[in-house]
Amino acid sequence: MIEISNVHKSFGDVEVLKGVSLTVEKGEVLSLIGGSGSGKSTLLMCINGLEPINAGRILVDDIDVHARNTNLNKLRQKIGIVFQQWNAFPHLTVLENVMIAPRKVLGKGKSEAEAIATEKLRHVGLSEKLHVYPSKLSGGQQQRMAIARALAMSPDYMLFDEVTSALDPQLVGEVLDTMRMLSSEGMTMIVVTHEMSFAREVSNRVAFFHKGLIHEIGAPEQIFGNPLREETRAFVQSSAR
Ligand code: ADP
Ligand code: MG
Repeated sequence: MIEISNVHKSFGDVEVLKGVSLTVEKGEVLSLIGGSGSGKSTLLMCINGLEPINAGRILVDDIDVHARNTNLNKLRQKIGIVFQQWNAFPHLTVLENVMIAPRKVLGKGKSEAEAIATEKLRHVGLSEKLHVYPSKLSGGQQQRMAIARALAMSPDYMLFDEVTSALDPQLVGEVLDTMRMLSSEGMTMIVVTHEMSFAREVSNRVAFFHKGLIHEIGAPEQIFGNPLREETRAFVQSSAR
């Protein structure tokens, strides 16, 4: 379970998160929507300790992410993160790229790391691509490789930050299908997305981020069908277009 209480985060003089509180239960899919610059990516970075916070607290399975004595490397093994783009090592095959973390971070031997990577790549539908170089993959396949790479650490949580935003429209579906599959398997996920139909269909709850705060949070039917707040309504309408 992820418990975020009253988190404040500034870059220099600019306060980007202004007291964010949020709980994500095991097995839940939470979508984060909201305008550009509202703080969504920053929140994800704070959850896995890539960014320090100025006040408040984030607990992941009761581990205080920002406590001085927290082992961040260990914590990050629990939390997979996939970004808009991941630059795989171009001189390594798809399989070799996915093997890196199990080998280097988990200390697995070569054959075990290979077995893990092969299994995760199969899971995202890339069994045919194990021995090709990343540049030979489509954008959608590259994002599925990035998901496999995160899964190779056997995380308990997955964070997705606009993973389909850089893709040609015809490639978006295959990546969303992979995420849908993970959610149906019970993966706990926080998904920053512009894909409103995905957020509506797959999420248990949707949080609308506005000016560094969760302005409204609720079931997808509420947020998309009957938002309580004016700004939510305006955002959802403009995104529907
Ligand atoms: P979103 O993901 O919702 O578009 P971000 O979390 O990326 O928003 O950014 C929120 C605000 O924080 C923006 O104004 C952005 O310019 C600023 N910001 C993000 N990262 C940094 C950084 N590393 N240094 C300074 N400002 C940053
Ligand atoms: Mg962002």
